[in-house]
Amino acid sequence: NVRDITVENFSVSARGKELLKNASVKISHGKRYGLVGPNGTGKSTLLKLLAWRKIPVPKNIDVLLVEQEVAGDDRSALQAVVSANEELVKLREEVAALQNSSSIAGGEANDDVNGDDTGEKLAELYEKLQVLGSDAAEAQASKILAGLGFTKEMQNRPTRSFSGGWRMRISLARALFVQPTLLLLDEPTNHLDLRAVLWLEEYLCRWKKTLIVVSHDRDFLNTVCTEIIHLHDFKLHFYRGNFDDFEAGYEQRRKETNKRFEIYVKQEKAAKRSGDQVQQKKVKDRAKFAAAKEAAKNKAKGKADDDEPPPEAPKKWRDYSVEFHFPEPTELTPPLLQLINVSFSYPNRKDFRLSDIDLGIDMGTRVAIVGPNGAGKSTLLNLLAGDLVPTEGEVRRSQKLRIGRYSQHFVDLLTMEETPVQYLLRLHPDQEGFSKQEAVRAKLGKFGLPSHNHLTPIAKLSGGQKARVVFTSISMSKPHILLLDEPTNHLDMQSIDALAAALDEFIGGVVLVSHDSRLISRVCEDEEKSQIWVVENGTMLPCRRLVQQLTWCCDGSTFNPILLKSGE
Ligand code: ATP
Ligand code: ATP
Repeated sequence: NVRDITVENFSVSARGKELLKNASVKISHGKRYGLVGPNGTGKSTLLKLLAWRKIPVPKNIDVLLVEQEVAGDDRSALQAVVSANEELVKLREEVAALQNSSSIAGGEANDDVNGDDTGEKLAELYEKLQVLGSDAAEAQASKILAGLGFTKEMQNRPTRSFSGGWRMRISLARALFVQPTLLLLDEPTNHLDLRAVLWLEEYLCRWKKTLIVVSHDRDFLNTVCTEIIHLHDFKLHFYRGNFDDFEAGYEQRRKETNKRFEIYVKQEKAAKRSGDQVQQKKVKDRAKFAAAKEAAKNKAKGKADDDEPPPEAPKKWRDYSVEFHFPEPTELTPPLLQLINVSFSYPNRKDFRLSDIDLGIDMGTRVAIVGPNGAGKSTLLNLLAGDLVPTEGEVRRSQKLRIGRYSQHFVDLLTMEETPVQYLLRLHPDQEGFSKQEAVRAKLGKFGLPSHNHLTPIAKLSGGQKARVVFTSISMSKPHILLLDEPTNHLDMQSIDALAAALDEFIGGVVLVSHDSRLISRVCEDEEKSQIWVVENGTMLPCRRLVQQLTWCCDGSTFNPILLKSGE
């Protein structure tokens, strides 16, 4: 197929670190690929290389990469969507420049020849604009935004005024507006509420062109993907089927590889013990032959058609694991933090108000907050943290209370030019041990940041790696209460599990805003200590049929917070 992409034997490195080594890729037109793998291994880089055509993409394939979320600026949501069509924008700018120059020239009574040239060029540009459907562009963009839940008023608001979930929707609307042959999505479900995730899943299942999506969301990958690409050991491994199929295939591969390795080590040891050189060579040759045979078998089955040459000798499967930890906080007498009959509204937003909020958090408390995008969940966390002051009601905070805050836009709080070590030492100068730097590096390592990234500027880290710097900082502040706003965005699956385990053993209080039903179920396992709240329609209501209800709602085909509230 002329719309397939095949690239063999390419390598990629970032800042001298290899990400892909002699990897190969074959993307077939019309398939939906999920690209998975641990944080910082090069998934976003791969998407960017495809979008920038550094990895050769045939000319007839137009590519669009949807970034993690649209950066907020003064452009309206509608302008942001229309500007996704770069050709259209360029042509419109050319027309404006020509019109401008011809009006200046006209003003100076310039010669006719110049005027004719301009007229011809303008006519040519108008024709091109017409082919691109320029006249209908705004109407079409508006229709897509409306489909994604934007009212007319919202479409004209600057992008910076939107919450995370809505900014992600603007990014997606840009892609739907352009309809590229190859659509590249980088963690599209980050920040989206469940309704929007379900909408996106449905839309993508009907996507007839090619899709490559980076995601750490199992449910999403299972629903949307027909193929999985696993970035492992500097290679791209292809698996047919959805994420569950991949996991089964991966496990089988891991077992087979380790079995081969064990046999090889045993035989090699025996040959060495005998001191027989010929026998030692035989063991190596046999291993090589077996690996080549296995690779050929897998290829024939289509189970794993990466075209890597057989390895020199069997290697142990390198699994990746990570552990998070939040230290035991000092004791404080309750109550730690209380919102009493709190109401809040932003001075410039008459249409948004939170009222009648009562919430108490002590050691051991587990609070999960769910609700649609823009309902006020982040606002509520800002009230708890003291970053916003209630317009009515009272906030009571224990004097020595330390709060660990993971904000949805945590990237904005990091200083990009500093290295993780400099950043952490500036925030937490009192480190024990003979080398403060080593103490900080040990903590970063615990949170899974590879050591070569400890001394690189934060700007050069991947999304998940930046998140690790924030988690390390939170842990170092020894908080009594954790306020976590969408903490699983950016984290790979192993780290989400590590976070869940760390929250489980943490003895302080936890307030978790999340759309991740799996994490909520784990954090709120102990029903006596847990509360789930739904923020919607300007207030916060308890959800009584806790975990099961939520899990059911998240796993089912509809997510309906009203159902949660009434506990039906
Ligand atoms: P995540 O799951 O965390 O998003 P990823 O697999 O998408 O990770 P990339 O963002 O592609 O990873 O990053 C791969 C590597 O490239 C990382 O080790 C990172 O440190 C490095 N890197 C990322 N961005 C830059 C940059 N702008 N300059 C230099 N190196 C970078
Ligand atoms: P999401 O799930 O998308 O993150 P959310 O429930 O956390 O949404 P908030 O970020 O609390 O929602 O926003 C609630 C409402 O307040 C939104 O309409 C948002 O646009 C608005 N808002 C947030 N911050 C401000 C601000 N500084 N000034 C004015 N309005 C704001």
